[in-house]
Amino acid sequence: MFKKIVVAVDGSEHSHRALEYGQDLANRYEAAVWLVHVFPHTSDLLGYDEYEKLVARREAAGQTVLDEARQTLGTVRFPVYEELLEGPPAEAIINVAEVRGVDLIIMGTRGLGALQGLLMGSVSHKVMHHAHCPVLLVR
Ligand code: ATP
Ligand code: MG
Repeated sequence: MFKKIVVAVDGSEHSHRALEYGQDLANRYEAAVWLVHVFPHTSDLLGYDEYEKLVARREAAGQTVLDEARQTLGTVRFPVYEELLEGPPAEAIINVAEVRGVDLIIMGTRGLGALQGLLMGSVSHKVMHHAHCPVLLVR
């Protein structure tokens, strides 16, 4: 049923738990896992001197999030791919899931956002509503 799984990681405690579910399901279903992280869009700053530096810094920070997730998985029997994308997170996650023909997206209910009172974050809310495949939100 699940052959390709996206785990969306933002470095939060919730996304760590999402990763644990991803690992378990990938083992059970012999699925491949795509670790996806989206860093903020910067092209509106095009032309500024500091532009290149800012993008490089954001990209490096994003790669660190992916590296940590990959390390957390450790040695696994299933294939693991990484996608480091730029843009609004929900759109990028939905898009990569569609392009890769993914059949499950796993993510946290919440992320790094500060508004703890809310039931779920804006990224998980948007992905849940617009994804073309099942979405597992992990508390
Ligand atoms: P908000 O961002 O709306 O203030 P929040 O940070 O608490 O709220 P979300 O951002 O919706 O909540 O995070 C929910 C889940 O979405 C995270 O646990 C993670 O799995 C995924 N996610 C959030 N941001 C990103 C991102 N930039 N790249 C990849 N996955 C992300
Ligand atoms: Mg967030």
